[in-house]
Amino acid sequence: MVVVTEPGVTEKQIEEIIRVLHEHGFDVHRSTGIRQTVLGAIGVQPDFDHRQIQLLTGVAEVLRITEPYKLASRTFKREGSVFDIGGLKIGGNEVVVMAGPCSVESEKQIFSIAESVSKAGAKILRGGAFKPRTSPYAFQGMGEEGLKLMRAAADQYGLKVITEVMDKSQIALVEQYADILQIGARNMQNFTFLRDLGKASKPILLKRGLAATIEEWLMSAEYILSGGNQQVMLCERGIRTFETATRNTMDIGAIPVVQKKSHLPIIADPSHAIGIRDKVIPMARASVAAGADGIIVEVHNDPDHAKSDGAQSLFPDQFSQMMKEVTIIAEAIGRKIA
Ligand code: PEP
Ligand code: MN
Repeated sequence: MVVVTEPGVTEKQIEEIIRVLHEHGFDVHRSTGIRQTVLGAIGVQPDFDHRQIQLLTGVAEVLRITEPYKLASRTFKREGSVFDIGGLKIGGNEVVVMAGPCSVESEKQIFSIAESVSKAGAKILRGGAFKPRTSPYAFQGMGEEGLKLMRAAADQYGLKVITEVMDKSQIALVEQYADILQIGARNMQNFTFLRDLGKASKPILLKRGLAATIEEWLMSAEYILSGGNQQVMLCERGIRTFETATRNTMDIGAIPVVQKKSHLPIIADPSHAIGIRDKVIPMARASVAAGADGIIVEVHNDPDHAKSDGAQSLFPDQFSQMMKEVTIIAEAIGRKIA
């Protein structure tokens, strides 16, 4: 249930509404907007008559949320969430571009890529130091050394850092170096880990699971939000279907669907979604056209020798071309590239 207060409601009246909700056994999450305060009442109280809240002074509206997720829903928060990441806003009118290699491989590699993506207009450097690989024998990432290199390269070229954290034991370490914690597709339903991330101090990019429905994905976001971390972004990275011509099937439709259902920013990852270099640019264009709040793209200075995902990584020149094209598309729909 969501309680929307009247404009001009006093703090005392809000406190009274919260007190009554607590009395009925609800947990209350408060979201203070410019004109109105919205209270999310979480909990199942079968005998509760919502008119008891409707009658309280200062209450404008009581809405029953039918979705199983509450804090992630647009009913709870009507305006889109905008997160300020060291002065860079994600979720507003500007579309943010994150780019970099699949994995951090060496100092030379990450500095070279950071330089080229920043020159082309990316604002956030991506790259994995801890890699979730299908094979235990494949390159697993450089670990803390990779985090250090990434931070140094990002700082040199005025970029923020996004990198994957794979389990609870890595959260504190990764938080020292990263601005955004990426949660991989394979971890989307690791519920104990999602609860741990609710206590993390950095914003989260939650990738969609390989075979997750939009509702399951939003429920996973709900775990993090209900744990106390309000800064969750979603990332469409392709899902597994019967199609084998592409690595995954990019669900472009998920972008407007999520935007209708949730206030959380949505980022698109055309690289993992399509998995083939020459088709990444068209999918990046489609993502921006569909309304994504950002795109995350793999770029490599020498993709043919990359330690992971070389075949889907753009050459720096291709990335510059992509930036030019998505800039035009963003403008066509009244947005711009950050
Ligand atoms: C990645 O971003 O390199 C990655 C492993 O992504 P995903 O979890 O979406 O497969
Ligand atoms: Mn990758």
